[in-house]
Amino acid sequence: MIFVEKSALGLPLTAFLEREGADMTVIDDGFPVEDKKSNIVLTARKDNFVHPCPGTGIYRCCNYHVADIMQGCPFDCAYCILQAYLPHRHIRVSADTAAVREAILAAVKNGKRRVGTGELSDSLALDGLVPLSRILMPVAAETDNIQFEFKTKSDRVENLLAMRPVNAVVSWSLNPQEIIDKEEPLTAPLARRLEAARACSRHGYKLGFHFDPLIMTENFRELYSGLIERLTDSVEESSVEFISVSTFRCPAELLDCIRRRKTPSSLLLGDFIRGLDGKARYFKAVRVEMLRFVLESLRKRWKKVFIYFCMEHESLWDKLLAGDPGDRESFEALFPFYSPRIIS
Ligand code: SF4
Repeated sequence: MIFVEKSALGLPLTAFLEREGADMTVIDDGFPVEDKKSNIVLTARKDNFVHPCPGTGIYRCCNYHVADIMQGCPFDCAYCILQAYLPHRHIRVSADTAAVREAILAAVKNGKRRVGTGELSDSLALDGLVPLSRILMPVAAETDNIQFEFKTKSDRVENLLAMRPVNAVVSWSLNPQEIIDKEEPLTAPLARRLEAARACSRHGYKLGFHFDPLIMTENFRELYSGLIERLTDSVEESSVEFISVSTFRCPAELLDCIRRRKTPSSLLLGDFIRGLDGKARYFKAVRVEMLRFVLESLRKRWKKVFIYFCMEHESLWDKLLAGDPGDRESFEALFPFYSPRIIS
């Protein structure tokens, strides 16, 4: 159900949804809607739409910028940080998409930048109801300084397939189906994510994939080699702009949320250490084993695609990739968007 706070009436997203014939209920500002994931509230929130991903100085961060328009997600991943971070389960969307546009364009005014909406929500899960992609894609098309990422675990690409891709990447977070079944309730099955990726690639979009979070299981190697086989059989390497790889990590308060979930999670079976940023992580030797296996399996099939670690220690870059990527700006410069390369 879509609710509109009174102060959001007349704002661009509200007007857009009215034109589309969306069924919306007007409420007073701050009215306490039932706090569930199927409730969406359009608000007049204006502040801090685009900001750098909150990395730390300890683990290597790629200087990704988050466009924070939607807060909350209809999916229910066991490891989702939003459980600990957001004070609500319903989804709040800023209806002031004109201010969002200004914030995005201001963030890329002085140079190239990778920006995306998939941090405080899934970029496409609600695109059938609140089609933000139809508003954001034209913004991305306004300047070649931007590479706009739609990051998803859904297969909702209908709107994207109805538009001309300009300065956009569509990316999927991937896990083996056995892990999706247990840890990623309500998301699209792997087969449908890969079908959607193939459709986007055929339509001309660049693709990205996130092996994040890698989750340790008894049959880790079997599951992840099967996943990599399915991915590399589904799309061409030349259509893939980047792949991120990272092991499960989380702040202590998220571990408490995971313990309180109705369905027991295999995430709690791992042995963790407290990382330098205070987050629980697998032991370093386990992380090395997981990252090395996934990297080597990917490289057996795809020789050239750009692969990076998200929030990993420089020592693991030294050990497993091309060496320490350095500070945010130097790391960022490694992306194909900054230094295009030709994949034959
Ligand atoms: S898709 Fe992302 S934002 Fe949505 S529940 Fe899963 S981890 Fe959270």
